[in-house]
Amino acid sequence: MAPAPILIKCPCGIESRGASGDIIVCTGCGARYDTAAEAKRLEGLAALTQRQFRYLSRAGLGFIGLLGVVGLVWLNVWGLVILGSAGAIIWFMVFMPYMKRRMLTKASTLYTPTVAPTRK
Ligand SMILES: [Zn+2]
Repeated sequence: MAPAPILIKCPCGIESRGASGDIIVCTGCGARYDTAAEAKRLEGLAALTQRQFRYLSRAGLGFIGLLGVVGLVWLNVWGLVILGSAGAIIWFMVFMPYMKRRMLTKASTLYTPTVAPTRK
């Protein structure tokens, strides 16, 4: 994963910018912030969200397949085409974007990374 830009708010009142994983030194008081551990946790969280998303994708293929079979039994090939494409549209254009927003919101509110300063 590419390092994410982060903002360090030092107790001295100075805000310093850097990339996750870097050691960021406050320009005001010289406190050092090692962000490597927090970057690892964030990567773990991102990987978890990606895994959930892949699972949803696969479940969607199952959903479309199931609708396709129902359509095939009900209306032969046209039923397969109509219900299969309706399933694809519902799952990938309505349900997945909704779930993606929900999961990203949840992931972003799960915790706020905090890094304690270490003095030089
Ligand atoms: Zn500072």
